[in-house]
Amino acid sequence: MDLFARLTRLGHEQVVFWQDEASGLRAIVAIHNTTLGPALGGTRMYPYATEAEALDDVLRLARAMTYKSAAAGLDLGGGKAVIIGDPHQKSEQLLRAYGRCVESLGGRYITTTDVGTRTEDLDIIARETRYVVGRPPASGGSGDTSILTGKTVFLGMHAAAQVALGVQTLRGLSVAIQGAGKVGWHVMEHLATEGATLIVSDIDAEQARRAAQHFGARLVGVESIYDVECDIFSPNALGGVLNARTIPRLRCRIVCGGANNQLETPEDADRLAERGILYAPDFVVNCGGVINVAEELAGYNAERAAARAAAVFDTTLRILAMAERMKVNPAVAAERYAEERIAAIAALHRSYIPGSPR
Ligand code: NAD
Repeated sequence: MDLFARLTRLGHEQVVFWQDEASGLRAIVAIHNTTLGPALGGTRMYPYATEAEALDDVLRLARAMTYKSAAAGLDLGGGKAVIIGDPHQKSEQLLRAYGRCVESLGGRYITTTDVGTRTEDLDIIARETRYVVGRPPASGGSGDTSILTGKTVFLGMHAAAQVALGVQTLRGLSVAIQGAGKVGWHVMEHLATEGATLIVSDIDAEQARRAAQHFGARLVGVESIYDVECDIFSPNALGGVLNARTIPRLRCRIVCGGANNQLETPEDADRLAERGILYAPDFVVNCGGVINVAEELAGYNAERAAARAAAVFDTTLRILAMAERMKVNPAVAAERYAEERIAAIAALHRSYIPGSPR
């Protein structure tokens, strides 16, 4: 395996493999870029079929965090961790062994929750490390990140609707929601309050039914959501859902949702553009969660977090305008926007200033 060549190509700084035989822990921490600050990103626990699959996932997720935090204007770098295993079989010993792995990095990596880990798990991890955010409010943390993520996705939709449809409100627009989980639910709450028409699907039939009833939404099957005629398609479940098979089926004007890594390949952003569908890049609009946990580092303040999250409207407009001007798709424009900020801040740090925080 040409691991170093791959890390060079993708730009990762460091990858840590950590095993603990007694607890059965097998974890990989990927630190992509720390130009702007410590790498922050969640820990995913998943029963990966192979170690290669786990490595692919963590490298991809860590890189996305660099771009997300940079675009959100945070002083944070990008990182992520995976624990190979069934999340139903977590033990105190395993989580604490993982906490020691995080602690060993001395603050270069700060963790939080992701798929397969919950805020309560963080309390156990935090018994071995200081570098944890997103713990339950009772433990001094900021709690559920999906509330602010739902808000930034909603604000991103507003910006995209202004550009693609020339409207200042989502009232009367139809939005197809894929995934009525934590983020999808909060997105629907904002949309319902504003008077949008909702269509919903979830692989969990009971959850889909609950959402349909609660929001008066039209319920459709997991596969049919791609074929629904609507103004906005909003992926809030899994990654990779925008691809050569699904994009030709979409009958919307805008794609904007909270799911991470929605594009299966970079070319899928061109496929959307060719179909005249405006794509609001996922890492730009789903930044509410990382903004919320980042606030903890300076002493959590919900109002400050909400104010910072509100900037996503202007950021999305700026990136969509950049795409237009540079004649590139919005995903490429968003990456450049983040890269330009990283390069600008890196240039500032060329000179040594005694006592400076960096
Ligand atoms: P969640 O587990 O609460 O919700 C996901 C929902 O999607 C579940 O109800 C699940 O049943 C459903 N689902 C799974 N596969 C589906 C399919 N094929 N079709 C329809 N529904 C399906 O997770 P969440 O926290 O709401 O996160 C959703 C997405 O947003 C993930 O991609 C996550 O990485 C991303 N994200 C979350 C946050 C956050 O703050 N929670 C922040 C940024 C990005």
